[in-house]
Amino acid sequence: MGKIRCGIGYDLHRLAEGRALVVGGITLPFDKGPVGHSDGDVLAHAMCDALLGAAALGDIGTHFPDTDPKWKGANSLRFLEHARNLLDEKRLKIEHVDAVVIMEKPKLVPHFPKMREVLAKSLGVLPETIHLKAKTNEGVDAIGRGEAIAAHVVATLSSEQ
Ligand code: MG
Repeated sequence: MGKIRCGIGYDLHRLAEGRALVVGGITLPFDKGPVGHSDGDVLAHAMCDALLGAAALGDIGTHFPDTDPKWKGANSLRFLEHARNLLDEKRLKIEHVDAVVIMEKPKLVPHFPKMREVLAKSLGVLPETIHLKAKTNEGVDAIGRGEAIAAHVVATLSSEQ
């Protein structure tokens, strides 16, 4: 293993009725979903930022501005695929991705195997490379009231140099 680089990513979206709840590239049955220009997938967005950060390649807003109609309603897995290509160009390898998703309801853990599979496919890694954790906000603040969803992600990359 060569030089190690770490990146951090964070994202939060408000939840509203009539929006699909997309988390980690899959749609979960629920009556509310994230408000956003794209599909509002906080886990994919925070993961993208963590990967771009580790590679010193800016952030998700640099690559996919929300002012660009091209990304309206976009499947956020496309952001991860783009990040993966950028890492490939810099000969950076994804060693590990660790994430925490915070939302009050519904339970996310039963969906983690499918999320890891979908995210791993977009990043060209094994599902074991991606670790997911779920927390509630103990009823406190906007997340606790079910008004928002957030994610924190740390990505570890290695390079030959
Ligand atoms: Mg976002």
